[in-house]
Amino acid sequence: MSMYALLRSSGEPPTEEQIEESLAGNLCRCTGYRPILDAFRVFAKTDDLLYTKTSFESTSAGELICPSSGKPCSCGEGTANRRDNSVCVKRYSPVLYNKIDGNLYVEKELIFPPELILRKNMPLYLHGFGGVKWYRPLKFQHVLDLKSCYPDAKLVVGNTEVGIETKFKNAQYQVLISVTHVPELNILSMTENGLEIGASVRLTLLQQFLRKVIMQHPVEETSSCKAILRQLKWFAGNQIKNVASVGGNICTASPISDLNPLWMAAGAIMRIINCKGTVRTIPAKEFFLGYRKVDLANDEVLLSVFLPWTRSSEFVKEFKQAHRREDDIALVNAGMLRQDTGTRTARYRVVPLKPKSPCAETRRCLVTPRRNEVTPRLPTRDEATPPLPAQE
Ligand code: FAD
Repeated sequence: MSMYALLRSSGEPPTEEQIEESLAGNLCRCTGYRPILDAFRVFAKTDDLLYTKTSFESTSAGELICPSSGKPCSCGEGTANRRDNSVCVKRYSPVLYNKIDGNLYVEKELIFPPELILRKNMPLYLHGFGGVKWYRPLKFQHVLDLKSCYPDAKLVVGNTEVGIETKFKNAQYQVLISVTHVPELNILSMTENGLEIGASVRLTLLQQFLRKVIMQHPVEETSSCKAILRQLKWFAGNQIKNVASVGGNICTASPISDLNPLWMAAGAIMRIINCKGTVRTIPAKEFFLGYRKVDLANDEVLLSVFLPWTRSSEFVKEFKQAHRREDDIALVNAGMLRQDTGTRTARYRVVPLKPKSPCAETRRCLVTPRRNEVTPRLPTRDEATPPLPAQE
């Protein structure tokens, strides 16, 4: 199904890398992954002509040169003549795999029913067993009104954290407010100083947006964007990234979050609004207070996160170590910022999250340069800002 979705929704043949990414997140207990990948590789964006085109060249007289004998040849296109032990065989016109059914990718039937895409969204209110209430407001003011009526209400976007809490950790929420459709929370904009990323923005959309930003902006300004994009590659599978939100990851403040160390290292700023409409801002490294604890009062909502452009002297780098490369929980992850301050000095901000051991130790391991790894010109002084307290 993942592969079908990829082929149907791609505007053009996918790359081999996209095919592998789409398969990630699926568990296979029958054939194993290799045969599946091999089977789908025929749909990948490869140059089919390499395999199908026979290189007939022609002389000035217009005769075709046989690719095998190197001599003029009269077998011509579309014939199956054989001459003098030659290997001239019928030449087939190249067929691209993606055109086998006669359609181009763009002409294929839409994967999602158009009538559902065009349908006008309505605010929703559902009630369930035990008096559970579920709201889906469309206006931001209604979110604030609901939050002031029900201060304990749980906001929800992709439900990939809340769902786990209710299903496996016995958490119970009487009032849930789905904020998926609120425009103010879905903002994605480029400003003079950086990017404004709405709390409800899904991770797949963030990936697409960052790719665009990286293409359009000077390379030195987008070091954090690149680090976040690289980290997102190893963040769950596409199914999760399609629904999971930026704000959901931030507000959970999980010690295994792949992105939170990067927001801190990159100097991101959280924009928070309360039910009365008052907005305040706070640097990411002050927003995270501890294990699954953030600086957000009951009457407050995370509005967006502001990611500043990096300067030419700043470099941001991501780090994630897990048992497996794809779809695994981090054993250690970190965000790192290096600021070159002069000819021989550099400052570092390293924000590690290591779930099972004191984070100071992790920071020391990451910051202390090993003898052979020090470049002759740069690190003579290492400074690390206090990291996020990471306790179990
Ligand atoms: P939700 O579950 O909808 O909400 C999470 C929390 O955020 C709730 O407490 C909610 O009230 C709060 N919240 C949401 N929006 C706001 C707001 N605007 N203001 C205030 N509070 C708000 N995480 C990783 O870091 N790396 C991974 O590789 C990874 N893999 C995963 C794989 C699977 C299979 C699953 C199920 C989860 C994985 N996660 C991973 C965790 C999770 O997907 C992410 O944390 C995700 O970003 C959460 O987003 P969400 O929209 O689903 O959050």
